[in-house]
Amino acid sequence: QIPSRLPLLLTHEGVLLPGSTMRTSVDSPRNMQLVRSRLLKGTSLRSTIIGVIPNTSDPTSDCDDLPSLHRIGTAALAVQVVGSNWPKPHYTLLVTGLCRFQILQLLKEKPYPVAEVEQLDRLEQFTNQHKSEEELGELSEQFYKYAVQLVEMLDMSVPAVAKLRRLLDNLPREALPDILTSIIRTSNQEKLQILDAVRLEERFKMTIPLLVRQIEGLKLLQKTRKPKQDDDKRVVAIRPNRRINHIPSTTEDEEEEEDHDDVVMLEKKIRTSSMSEQALKVCLKEIKRLKKMPQSMPEYALTRNYLELMVELPWNKSTKDRLEIRAARILLDNDHYAMEKLKKRVLEYLAVRQLKNNLKGPILCFVGPPGVGKTSVGRSIAKTLGREFHRIALGGVCDQSDIRGHRRTYVGSMPGRIINGLKTVGVNNPVFLLDEVDKLGKSLQGDPAAALLEVLDPEQNHSFTDHYLNVAFDLSQVLFIATANTTATIPPALLDRMEIIQVPGYTQEEKIEIAHRHLIPKQLEQHGLTPQQIQIPQVTTLDIISRYTREAGVRSLDRKLGAICRAVAVKVAEGQHKETKPDRAEAGEGEDCKEHVTEDAKPESISDTADLALPPEMPILIDFHALKDILGPPLYEMEVSERLSQPGVAIGLAWTPLGGEIMFVEASRMDGEGQLTLTGQLGDVMKESAHLAISWLRSNAKRYQLTNASGSFDLLDNTDIHLHFPAGAVTKDGPSAGVTIVTCLASLFSGRLVCSDVAMTGEITLRGLVLPVGGIKDKVLAAHRAGLKRIIIPQRNEKDLEEIAVNVRQDLMFVMASCLDEVLNAAFDGGFAVKPRVERLNSKL
Ligand code: ADP
Repeated sequence: QIPSRLPLLLTHEGVLLPGSTMRTSVDSPRNMQLVRSRLLKGTSLRSTIIGVIPNTSDPTSDCDDLPSLHRIGTAALAVQVVGSNWPKPHYTLLVTGLCRFQILQLLKEKPYPVAEVEQLDRLEQFTNQHKSEEELGELSEQFYKYAVQLVEMLDMSVPAVAKLRRLLDNLPREALPDILTSIIRTSNQEKLQILDAVRLEERFKMTIPLLVRQIEGLKLLQKTRKPKQDDDKRVVAIRPNRRINHIPSTTEDEEEEEDHDDVVMLEKKIRTSSMSEQALKVCLKEIKRLKKMPQSMPEYALTRNYLELMVELPWNKSTKDRLEIRAARILLDNDHYAMEKLKKRVLEYLAVRQLKNNLKGPILCFVGPPGVGKTSVGRSIAKTLGREFHRIALGGVCDQSDIRGHRRTYVGSMPGRIINGLKTVGVNNPVFLLDEVDKLGKSLQGDPAAALLEVLDPEQNHSFTDHYLNVAFDLSQVLFIATANTTATIPPALLDRMEIIQVPGYTQEEKIEIAHRHLIPKQLEQHGLTPQQIQIPQVTTLDIISRYTREAGVRSLDRKLGAICRAVAVKVAEGQHKETKPDRAEAGEGEDCKEHVTEDAKPESISDTADLALPPEMPILIDFHALKDILGPPLYEMEVSERLSQPGVAIGLAWTPLGGEIMFVEASRMDGEGQLTLTGQLGDVMKESAHLAISWLRSNAKRYQLTNASGSFDLLDNTDIHLHFPAGAVTKDGPSAGVTIVTCLASLFSGRLVCSDVAMTGEITLRGLVLPVGGIKDKVLAAHRAGLKRIIIPQRNEKDLEEIAVNVRQDLMFVMASCLDEVLNAAFDGGFAVKPRVERLNSKL
């Protein structure tokens, strides 16, 4: 039902029919006035309904007088008004026709005409009154057939055509003549006739010839096109050339259309995505630019990639935490053997999280040698929380845009690793493991550690701005965990944001347990083996640990086990394995095991054993011989006692980021001018320790009865000393070798051997005091690994021993030394002769 008074829009080109849409330019004063006061000011839907009167003579010519009006017009809804100032002020109006009307009386002419009108057609009317009429039924049927025929001649893959086809079936037949007339090629005059055909029957009659004409035209066109299609194929083949010549072809147009569709899809995705308001604004602006940009512009692809990333980012998507401390404890215990301190702290952390549902707190940083399970604990934490896990390797990263992304102005710019990680996991609350934060570099491209500060600070990271995105992204839901080998190289500001949890190396016993509980089952599964096919007794594991690996973690142990599994897998797959019967005792019982002779890889041994009573095929028992076969001769022998068979050698303990290690210090003397030579890539502190040691020994030579080769107490008289620290290729530094150097030189000048099972560590002073050093736990474990029995440590390090597992402590004897006298006494069998001193040294430190 349209209003009975309608403002009139007078058009002079184009005829609007009910059911169709038309874009018309408005520039005459009357029409402009109508748009301004009616459409732009109006607020209700009714005020946007106007009457469109076609075929008015050009209104620009006569300004004042209203031209004669066509009696019949179309009531229309103004859908869109776009204003512009160029080349002259005008509006472009998008109107949709609703129904016909007839002007009854003109009510006013200025500033724009308003008329009293009568609505001419009404849909219900048709359906009720005319449907039954025989003739009309036939007419409409005929019309419908033509319409379908016409549509089917068009290309159905074009979305508009497919839509039209659907419309044909869904719309009431009565509405079709108007709609089709406005679609097919017709002149304004013809359209006007259709508009004037108020009676439906008349309208059908008039439209049918138009349809037929269009169908015939199409047929003709298709006939002429057919041979041309072959041409098209040829054209496709040489298309690159055409591109160069910029000759537009139909296929290119289609492509463009397709791309346009993509952009529309993208826009839809942007609108439906849950990005922040700020981001949405930026995206909409970009998509507007994208629409105007030719595709060939390099920026087109850039902008598109950007928008696609923005749509993909998990702005609002998160997984639900399921955290139950008891279950978390069980899961951690199941996944990891030992590392009690670490597990305890992690559980505390999780418990606090459960109680206080937010993440504001220190970032956990696991520090320890490689292969001790730092990464895998991180993974377990993600598992207990039910969160996604993502590892970001920071080793060697020396460009801050790696963290924060490049600005989009750069060619090949991309977002930083944090945003990339979020895109990969697809949720905004994953567990991010920042691996190897101690190996961040620094370069001209800025300091990545500084960029990380913002990421890790809970006060700031809710609005982390990646340079590429250029809008803030909320990182506050992300759980960050860091790992490092040493805290020494982590920038202090970064260190300040983190809580350090030391993860020390494992003892041999722990390694055996880890191997049997975790590593071996995992390797068997990876290689498709079962415990019925391969058996690795504990003594073999111990052999692997002590003779084939020397590490704080279990990574190379894992690799060796992998090598064994591979070798066995070959045997199993070949199915030609034979095994001699075990002589006696059960597998896995101490040294006896060495007597089990498994098959040798050599074919002769197979034929040898084939004669014996047929042995059981499976399981293949890995004993020392098999081990030698698979892994080759042992890499590390227990060489300690051999190396100490002459004076001038002592064993020190060193700490490295890879765990503790034992270190031999060798000294020799020769005729010369009292020079000290140091080799083995020593740092300054270590060189100074050597000078300290020599000075102290020279000043105490008499007391200890130390002489040079010619029997003089002046140790450097006619004597050169050379100190060497294997392995020569590894840089060493630190004060803790002091006591070892003293012991080594004391042995050299006294000609006595240092006990072969003693290792030591401690800093010295010029007055002969022994000062505490760091890394005691790792050092003790290293000595234990190497099979040493007695360890000399500074008195003030006694408290550190509590951290060491009881079974390791039981195997070792600790000597606490507070001065060098005590060190020397403990290092040599039967003590070191000292002439009684008059006064004792007292430290006032
Ligand atoms: P890191 O990150 O400390 O260098 P990883 O986490 O990569 O070491 O650990 C190496 C391997 O050792 C992993 O396969 C892990 O499962 C295993 N592993 C280390 N420690 C343990 C442990 N305590 N219990 C079970 N497996 C362990």
